Amino acid sequence: MEINLKETKLIAGQGQLFHAEIPGNNEILEPLGKFSKPIVVHVRLESKDQQIKAFGTISTEVILNCSRCLEFCIYNIKSDFAASLIDISLQDEQDLWQDEVVFIKGGIVDFSSLIYEIILTQIPMTPLCNINCKGLCPICGIDLNHRSCQCQQDNIDPRWEKLKHLT
Ligand SMILES: [Zn+2]
Ligand SMILES: [Zn+2]
Repeated sequence: MEINLKETKLIAGQGQLFHAEIPGNNEILEPLGKFSKPIVVHVRLESKDQQIKAFGTISTEVILNCSRCLEFCIYNIKSDFAASLIDISLQDEQDLWQDEVVFIKGGIVDFSSLIYEIILTQIPMTPLCNINCKGLCPICGIDLNHRSCQCQQDNIDPRWEKLKHLT
């Protein structure tokens, strides 16, 4: 998502709103999952004391695989963000900026990296289709949410497996 600041007349103390709907780049989510809805971004730019700040929201929906049963699960992502827009020529002074920074290159600000960074941090490490998901049987691989098997009953801790053969 790019905003051309040269075409944007920011008036000090007055916010300006931008909206964009961008198709999610599935390559970025691989192998975690894929986008099932476009990424909706709302950004308000504010110019204050010679500095431009961006305040925005990101929302989208992704399809992930449940970490226990591997079924698809839909996950909503919604996040707020705030960033300072800094000209790329000041890149070396970035220690000065406390906030998240998005660089302005030739008058253009590209929010894409920030947007994907935020989305990735919102994706759970171990997604679950349901918090009570029973997962797959570790022995026969059956989905224990839909079917049951006999494995659990004679399940033996693999550490004792060898002992069983000794007797
Ligand atoms: Zn599951
Ligand atoms: Zn089983």
